[in-house]
Amino acid sequence: MYKCLNCGNTEKFLGHAQEMGEVIIYKEDFSSKNLYEWIYMASKKSWSYDLKIKKCFICNSENIIDI
Ligand SMILES: [Zn+2]
Repeated sequence: MYKCLNCGNTEKFLGHAQEMGEVIIYKEDFSSKNLYEWIYMASKKSWSYDLKIKKCFICNSENIIDI
């Protein structure tokens, strides 16, 4: 859990997420416009992610601690 030392926010932050693992990739048809969109879904076999918190969503402070 993270906490902003500036405003006390513990709910919402801006950051960077990197997901790594096996996925299932398929096309989704958003039919009316004849648009296709590639969707991926995490396979249950192997999945890991890396989250980096950059700043507080509320006050923009970078003074965030991991509690
Ligand atoms: Zn804050």
